[in-house]
Parts: sequence; C-alpha cells; structure tokens
Amino acid sequence: MTASVGRVAAHSDTDWARTDGGAIVMDGNRLRDTLIDRLRQKVEAAGSPEVCLATVLVGEDKPSQVYVRAKQKKAAEAGLASRHVGIDGSATQAEIEEIVRDLVADRGVHGILVQLPLPEGFDAERVLELIPPAKDVDGLTERSMGRLVRDLPGHAPCTPLGVMRLLEHYGVATAGKTAVVVGRSTLVGLPQVLLLGRKGTDATVTLAHSRTSELAAVTGRADILVAAAGVAGMITAEHVKPGAAVLDVGISRTADGIVGDVDFDSVQAVAGAITPMPGGTGPMTIACLMENTWAAAAMLGVR
Ligand code: NDP
Repeated sequence: MTASVGRVAAHSDTDWARTDGGAIVMDGNRLRDTLIDRLRQKVEAAGSPEVCLATVLVGEDKPSQVYVRAKQKKAAEAGLASRHVGIDGSATQAEIEEIVRDLVADRGVHGILVQLPLPEGFDAERVLELIPPAKDVDGLTERSMGRLVRDLPGHAPCTPLGVMRLLEHYGVATAGKTAVVVGRSTLVGLPQVLLLGRKGTDATVTLAHSRTSELAAVTGRADILVAAAGVAGMITAEHVKPGAAVLDVGISRTADGIVGDVDFDSVQAVAGAITPMPGGTGPMTIACLMENTWAAAAMLGVR
C-alpha cells in the first residue's frame, strides 16, 4: 500500500476494496444498499406503517425522469410508498403551487420532493417555500436551511448528508480534522460546511469557491476534501494531502461520459480514501432521501 491511511480507521475485519494506489474505495452503491436494507428492517419492525414519499416532476426532462424513477424504486425497496405527480411543462406557476399545497395538506403524504431544476420560467423558490420543514425531505427550503444552521430538528440536504454517511461508515475521523469544501451552493457546499463543522462532528472547515486563490494550497491542507464545483477533473494529486479522504460530488457530462470533479487516477495514488464516480456520492443522495422520509414520518407523528 503506497498511500497513508492514517486518517482512516483501520478495520481489518472488513473487505473494503482499495485502489491500485492503496486508497480505500468509499463505495456509495454498496453503502446505499446497506442503508436501504437497514431501513426496510426498521420499517418492518415498526409494523410497516404507510409512509409515503411524493415526487413532483414538471416537464419532460429525461435525466430528471431517470432520477425520479430511481427514487421511487429505492423507496419501494425500503418498504416506503411513493406517489408521483407528473406536471405538464405547459402548466402555470399557480397550478404547480396548487398541487404542492395539496400534497402539503395530504395526511397520507409524509415527504415531498420537487425535482429540480424546474423548467425555465418557473420560480422554484416560491414552490419550495410552500413545503413545511417536516415534509421537506430534500432539506432545500429556506426554513430547513435555517433549522440546520440553528441545529434544530429538520432534514439536512441529501447530498451533503450522504457524504457524512460515507465518512462515518468508512471510519474517517472528523473531530479536530481539517476539512475543505470546494463549492458554496445552498444545495451542496454550504450545508456540507455546516454538517462537517457542527458540534459532535467538529471538523475545522474551509469553504473554497471560484474566487479562492491558490486552491491547491488550500485543499492541500485538508484531511477531508469534498469537491462540489461541477468542474470535470479539477482536483488532481497536487490538490490532495497524502492520506486524505476525498469525496467527489461533482457531475459533469462530457464527451467521455459522466465525470466527477476529481481526477480519480492521479488522486487515488495519494489519497487515503476516495469515492468512485459514478457509484460514490450519487447513490448516497438517494439513500439519505429515504432516511429523511422515514424521519419525516416520525416528525409527523406517524410512528
Ligand atoms: P453550483 O453551480 O450551484 O455551484 C458550484 C460551486 O462551485 C460554486 O460555489 C462555484 O463558485 C464553485 N466553483 C466553480 N468552479 C470552480 C473552480 N474552478 N474552483 C473552485 N470552485 C469553483 O453547483 P451545485 O452545488 O448545485 O453542484 C455542484 C456539482 O455537484 C455539480 O456538478 C452537480 O451536478 C453535482 N451534484 C451532484 C449530486 C450528487 O448526488 N452527487 C447532487 C447535486 C449536485 P462560485 O460560487 O464562486 O461561483
């Protein structure tokens, strides 16, 4: 093994795969399956109450259709019900808001996911703000973000939460460690900073973005590096501290297919642990959506 895994706890009893360079592969597909399986057992142990995730999709965007179908499939595997509302792209803003209001009022619906982005011309903020924190299983509304900042009960956004689950599962220490998050969106980067830095997790977090100078020097100090910029292959070996845990959130569609922000081949030789792309953070987003939906049912007094 050439890479140090000093920051990743040794688990000699596991069969974690390693890259050629010795980095532990943080396998999101596998952990997703484990979490969905565990969730199904919890649902069954609770007597299989009807807990329902409603998905809302406006328009005919093909990747969005694929994402929504994947969410419904995983909900079924977890023992959760799902309901899909497909809305024609010619609907008005008021019609979409009416549909979401109905789902909010519906006691048979516990989680609401509005697939983003909405087609051009729609105001997503006005739709999202209708969803109360308990049903906001995507964790993306202003109120959910406020609750995360204030450390109040609520749902954290699924992608950064998935990163946290990978760190936990693969024994990556966070307390007192240095973390760098590249990207400052409200969808990923900002909540990631909050989750890594919150009490109990206790990383010391730096937020990098497109105006950060000497990015490689900044990321090179990170024990935990989360790349969420959406710039294909921008994180190379020179950006990574030996032994660091590197989590790739970015997704770019290129002529070579879908690629992440992390140049896997060079980084895996330096990192202590790394997520593959695909099969890293993406599947974890869906697993966390299911966990949030189950948690929503508890918040709504269903179980
Ligand atoms: P945004 O475009 O909203 O944000 C990108 C962030 O990256 C911005 O803060 C931007 O800085 C920063 N950035 C852009 N270029 C650079 C650069 N060269 N150096 C440093 N920082 C840079 O994207 P999202 O946060 O919504 O998504 C990020 C990526 O994650 C995308 O590829 C998206 O597809 C993917 N994604 C993946 C998910 C998953 O499940 N794995 C789920 C959600 C998103 P600035 O603010 O200065 O412009």
